[in-house]
Amino acid sequence: MNRLALALIAFCTTILSYAQAQQERPKLVVGIIVDQMRQEYLYRFESKYGAGGFKRIINNGFQLKNAHYNYLPTETGPGHSSVFTGSTPSIHGIVANDWYDKTLKREVNCVDDYGNATGLDPSMSVVSPHRLLATTITDELELSTQRRAKVVGVSIKARGAVLPVGHTPDGAYWYNERSGEFVTSTYYKAALPVWAEEFNKLRWPDKLLASDWKPLLPIEQYTESGPDDAPYERKLNGKDRPVFPYPLKDAKGKPVYSLLPESPFGNDLIAEFAKAALIGEEMGKDGVTDFLTISFSGTDGVGHSTGPNSKETEDTYLRLDKTLEDLLNTLDKEVGKDMYTLFLTSDHGVMDSPNYLKDLRIPAGSFNTRAVTADVNNFLKNYFPGKTIVREVNGEQVYINHEVFSQDPTSSGVELLVAIELITKYLLTVDGIASVYPESVLRQAAYDEAGIKGKVIRGFYSKRAGDIAIVLEPGWIAGYSTAGAGHGAGYTYDTHVPVLFYGAGIKKGSSSAYHPITDIAPTLSVLLKIKFPSGCTGQPITEIVD
Ligand code: ZN
Ligand code: ZN
Ligand code: ZN
Repeated sequence: MNRLALALIAFCTTILSYAQAQQERPKLVVGIIVDQMRQEYLYRFESKYGAGGFKRIINNGFQLKNAHYNYLPTETGPGHSSVFTGSTPSIHGIVANDWYDKTLKREVNCVDDYGNATGLDPSMSVVSPHRLLATTITDELELSTQRRAKVVGVSIKARGAVLPVGHTPDGAYWYNERSGEFVTSTYYKAALPVWAEEFNKLRWPDKLLASDWKPLLPIEQYTESGPDDAPYERKLNGKDRPVFPYPLKDAKGKPVYSLLPESPFGNDLIAEFAKAALIGEEMGKDGVTDFLTISFSGTDGVGHSTGPNSKETEDTYLRLDKTLEDLLNTLDKEVGKDMYTLFLTSDHGVMDSPNYLKDLRIPAGSFNTRAVTADVNNFLKNYFPGKTIVREVNGEQVYINHEVFSQDPTSSGVELLVAIELITKYLLTVDGIASVYPESVLRQAAYDEAGIKGKVIRGFYSKRAGDIAIVLEPGWIAGYSTAGAGHGAGYTYDTHVPVLFYGAGIKKGSSSAYHPITDIAPTLSVLLKIKFPSGCTGQPITEIVD
């Protein structure tokens, strides 16, 4: 026997023993994030869901009925990062979707990576997870399998594809609104794999946008939501009223690719691409556990435009239920029933439109950050004549113009402290503001502090934060003064989300015990017998794993 044959035998033996050790684990984990899904959508639309989607997962899996985000802001980037790292923005560093970078002196997006785009057109958006400071459960799977596991993330939004799969995946893919194609970045691959190229050639967006968006059921059956024509909805796509049907093509009959993420059909596109990835990457086929993450963000687009009480939102969830049924059937066929483990959660909930709440005499309001910035600067003129102290109020944080003090030779450090105290006192008099915390207070606070202050602390990472954090009253939100709905608060409408586990290794049941969202990742660590993600602060959900 020559040396090559011996080496080959040794290699095969290693792989075989490795595969045996992996046998008790699922062949595939599927992590689903439904963007902007409240827990209550499982109850409110329950009578209209079929047997094969949400209900199949709930009735045969394990449901947490009291799972919450334990920090603010409840936004997409932080939400996806927290689920997969088992930690919070104060540790994983994804403090918002976009924030002001104090070193670069400009706004940055949580996944943009212009800094590494050497040799590329500077207008091209290069995307990577470089701002995510901790490992994800998917990174840990790659590390523990010597990168034999296949890990792939898909979404409409770049951040929804990139953050769940961490730093070491095989691929992350998202939708390009201009071309109607799926794309990746050079962080992952120099070019799309053949299966993704083939998928793009099928032109799914053209098919999905070919007909108008009409309700799935006769609209009079949608008794779980408000009237179709409500003043709390934004008017989509040049319509004069926010009512079905919605055309998805322009006047010349061409598909409008940017409308796909704002319709339920964005979710169908994601599901089709996820199925193509599953088959194209041969996931769940060998003895090593693979991990596919899917972020359905059509729900967020529709939710922002029409709000949680709209017929459009109800229709989107009934359609998603069917999409899930189809996805589960594909997983059964490709991976095998009971051979995969699936979990489903959301990155945040959503608040009702402020005007809808006000019309019902529930305390609510739209917080005008520009007006507050101007007012607070006006107030400070009495103390610091000729100086603009506050640069902006953004993301419910106050950013001070530090140059005003540092470039003035007559200014001592004391003046900055005085300014912070003056701003804090002033903001506490403003309508809609519940509490105000200077950075120095948050920096020194304990991670597990209770109440809303604890949520601010766990969302606050000093290097990427402003000088003062603001917490609004319940029912208050920045923007959305006329119509539409948003999220970002630490209150239950934004924090309370579904957490469903299903499949291999998961028993049937439910629990109404409180769990922070950070418990999902360490639960997966126990199921997969791998390390906890590096920044993990959650605990395994004992109801599920013991
Ligand atoms: Zn989101
Ligand atoms: Zn409507
Ligand atoms: Zn959103």
